[in-house]
Amino acid sequence: MVLVVMNVFVWNEVFSQRGELEVVFFDVGQGDSIFIETPQKHQILIDSGPSGPVMLEKLSNQMPFWDRTIDLIILTHPDYDHLRGFLDVLDRYEVENILWTGVLRETKTFGKWVEKIAAENTNIFIAERGQVIKAGDALFYIFHPFENLEGVLAEKNSNETSIVAKLVFHKNTFLFTGDIGKKQEQALLPRSDSVVNLSAQVLKVAHHGSKYSSDIGFLEIMEPEVAVISCGRDNSYGHPHPQVLRGLEKFGIIILRTDEKGDIKVVADGNSLLINNN
Ligand SMILES: [Zn+2]
Repeated sequence: MVLVVMNVFVWNEVFSQRGELEVVFFDVGQGDSIFIETPQKHQILIDSGPSGPVMLEKLSNQMPFWDRTIDLIILTHPDYDHLRGFLDVLDRYEVENILWTGVLRETKTFGKWVEKIAAENTNIFIAERGQVIKAGDALFYIFHPFENLEGVLAEKNSNETSIVAKLVFHKNTFLFTGDIGKKQEQALLPRSDSVVNLSAQVLKVAHHGSKYSSDIGFLEIMEPEVAVISCGRDNSYGHPHPQVLRGLEKFGIIILRTDEKGDIKVVADGNSLLINNN
């Protein structure tokens, strides 16, 4: 695997002694949104949930009122429950870098996204396996998509095209899976020992705990300590599926759900993890 290291952040490395990295899995109802702040106080937002006002409120709880800059947003795939909140984020904040797949949808929301990112003075990166994004001493390894998907039209949904990224902060590791299905999980596994291992301490369970994801073989090999499921209370999809919960329980994985716990904050000091889920 060829590593393409993208230094998308302008850091003052002088101040980058090891501190704490925070990952907050926001309770945005039925959708995904994950906020990451590095020890250098740089901010990364992965997905944005289905509501603009909810997204802005969540961000205002984490960021000081005078801070109107987000260093990097990552759109795992352009479906409503991951994309919608970004429209308001792009209005309110200055976004310095955007990482997405370039996959096309024929929805109104998607049209607005394309318009807004074109109007923003921002660096746009198309995600592809092999890229590494360096954020101080935190690194994002991109595992999926396997190839550049820019311009590919996704008709029904774009779940299968989701960005899968592993965040490594010293000894602490997180895997973000978007809404990939079992097929992509299987395809990721044989490659997991190349360059950097796919396994992570904290797994963002794919597709809100849908039964079409979280294959038992995938969970067994991944063996995370903690699994986070982002889903809405009493959602109409029946997420998370009991089969997925049973699979996680079988391997003794701690399950944290945003529909039960609200926002879930994980503080990483590079060695151990502290989980604050109210
Ligand atoms: Zn989704």
